[in-house]
Amino acid sequence: MAANKKLLMLPGDGIGPEVMKQVQAIIEWMDRRRHVTFDVTQDLVGGAAIDKHGTSLADETLDQAMNVDAVLLGAVGGPKWDGVARDIRPEAGLLKLRKEMDLFANLRPATVLPAMAKASSLKEELVSGLDMLIVRELTGGVYFGQPRGIETLPDGTRKAVDTQVYTEGEIERVCRLAFELAGKRSNRLHSVEKANVMETGVLWRAVATEVGKDFPNIELNHMYADNCAMQLVRRPKQFDVIVTDNLFGDILSDCAAMLTGSLGMLPSASLGAADADGRRKALYEPVHGSAPDIAGQGIANPLAMIQSFAMCLKYSFDMGEDADLVEQACRNALDAGLRTADIMEAGTTKISTSQMGEAVTRELDKLAA
Ligand code: NAD
Repeated sequence: MAANKKLLMLPGDGIGPEVMKQVQAIIEWMDRRRHVTFDVTQDLVGGAAIDKHGTSLADETLDQAMNVDAVLLGAVGGPKWDGVARDIRPEAGLLKLRKEMDLFANLRPATVLPAMAKASSLKEELVSGLDMLIVRELTGGVYFGQPRGIETLPDGTRKAVDTQVYTEGEIERVCRLAFELAGKRSNRLHSVEKANVMETGVLWRAVATEVGKDFPNIELNHMYADNCAMQLVRRPKQFDVIVTDNLFGDILSDCAAMLTGSLGMLPSASLGAADADGRRKALYEPVHGSAPDIAGQGIANPLAMIQSFAMCLKYSFDMGEDADLVEQACRNALDAGLRTADIMEAGTTKISTSQMGEAVTRELDKLAA
């Protein structure tokens, strides 16, 4: 079968390599059982790259990333590199990768499987079955706007400035993507800003409304960001897809993440502009970090990484059916009562990282039988 699905794996630091190994096992399974072959290369990023190349993202690695269909990243960072210069620190490599690939949309699903609803900080009935997606604008807004800085005023006191800037084009492309995604889900989209007090919010609302005219089947709701934060913890199941700017998306997606109660289960995707063939540059990574406190112990939860790979199948390779299989296999392993230490609860069986990987592969075998 076609071997042109080019994938770059960057396991990174800490638990990154441990969880990435479980994805490799699934890729082998897909080759064996689904006759789908990926052209996989592997390289270093973050602290591991600093140790070898003196920089957290070597030029050759960036070149590779620009020339594959998708990049899978584990996690970067750890105390070993806390003292390195700011411009080469592990996180700088990841930021550079996102910037060079111009990944303007960050997709963070928040799902709560019934088997996991007790792990949430909210009441079980409020979150059980939650399945939402936050689309965050990732390359614009107040984190990048100029002018910015801290200056000392003539009276000796200091003044800090950040600038929230959005062009119509930046808003349009992320809203369009969100509408497309909503069309593949339940045809509902919430566009979130603060048009009541911010000019960027006024433009955001206007552009979202204009883009919406191209998607007459999708119900568009506008919501202020403060109300959205409140609604997320009040009645989260009212949401399906949310699209919002960089700052609000940062905060709201972390809030939605906590609804699920389990950092080790949350995947993410960052997508760039579509080329003439409709293909987008894409980076898939778990939401969690390198978890240095448990690295090397074989106890990390690989499900966020595995589900990031499922997102990769869906969004980069148009393999929705295979993505569903992988997601279902993860659900089945949990339904069978298997848990890594981080999501352990009474009446379940504690297993290791590799055992969870094996359990998912075993469930895949059953589903494909
Ligand atoms: P973290 O996500 O690494 O860990 C937070 C807590 O969650 C820890 O107790 C950890 O053991 C636990 N945890 C995280 N993932 C887990 C998993 N898959 N299975 C089981 N438990 C898991 O966040 P942190 O401790 O704030 O940061 C650690 C390092 O990771 C830092 O160097 C930070 O800069 C880096 N980091 C990297 C990324 C990234 O690569 N995208 C994201 C966040 C943090």
